Amino acid sequence: MYDLVIVGAGPAGSTLARVAGSRLRTLLVERRPDGPAQPGPRSAKCCGGLLAPEAQRALAALGLGVPREVLIGPQLFAVRAIDVASGIERHYPRHYLNVDRGRFDAWLRTLVPAEVEVRTGHLVTGLCDEGDGVALALESTGGTEIVRARLVVGADGAASRVRARAFPGAEATAMARGLGPIAAHASTMAKYGASPFALYPLSVIQAYPQRFNANWVRFWKCH
Ligand SMILES: Cc1cc2nc3c(=O)[nH]c(=O)nc-3n(C[C@H](O)[C@H](O)[C@H](O)COP(=O)(O)OP(=O)(O)OC[C@H]3O[C@@H](n4cnc5c(N)ncnc54)[C@H](O)[C@@H]3O)c2cc1C
Repeated sequence: MYDLVIVGAGPAGSTLARVAGSRLRTLLVERRPDGPAQPGPRSAKCCGGLLAPEAQRALAALGLGVPREVLIGPQLFAVRAIDVASGIERHYPRHYLNVDRGRFDAWLRTLVPAEVEVRTGHLVTGLCDEGDGVALALESTGGTEIVRARLVVGADGAASRVRARAFPGAEATAMARGLGPIAAHASTMAKYGASPFALYPLSVIQAYPQRFNANWVRFWKCH
């Protein structure tokens, strides 16, 4: 039995494995095989590869600097924002690091301590709560295997299977069940008691008076 199974070796999974892995008997499972990404939609990760200042700060807090081999050109220091509806166009300074996403993920994986068992090319297809732990089904070219863990972390991205099994009422799962994105979003906001007004801060509302009616302003002034 593992102490910890981390499903997904993207930035979240590899980082958790790096900081916690050596203290626990840990397995890191990734469905993608090792090696450089092949051309084609199933291989390359869908990502712009831009590390925003917040992401750079998070890496710095972890004591990490991005190696040169992971960077690609051009490096960006400004953003051009276009509001299509109004035709307003602005440039503002913001420094991103431009990285090759495949190389970035592979680099983070090299930082996982040797004590952590890493299985790439393995897809987690099922989870079952057994009371004192969780059984996971792992599928690979070698067939299906069952492993057990005291704790499972779903770091398997936006369409997480782990989340779908553990939290069947979640927003993404509602969409998988056929609810449209607007209805799924509304039901999640209602579930957590979040206000639909919460999405826009007062500064944005004040900057676009023609877009927001008095209710927005009233709401924000008293919150
Ligand atoms: C179009 C697009 C552009 C983006 N551009 C940017 C950008 O420029 N900058 C930025 O900072 N962010 C960007 N993002 C967001 C960024 O990609 C995510 O925030 C980030 O990848 C999340 O990291 P993660 O580790 O949580 O998940 P992921 O990176 O999604 O990693 C999850 C891992 O789990 C694996 N996995 C999934 N299911 C299983 C399973 N059942 N069994 C085993 N393994 C599994 C996957 O193969 C994957 O490697 C973009 C996203 C999209 C969709």
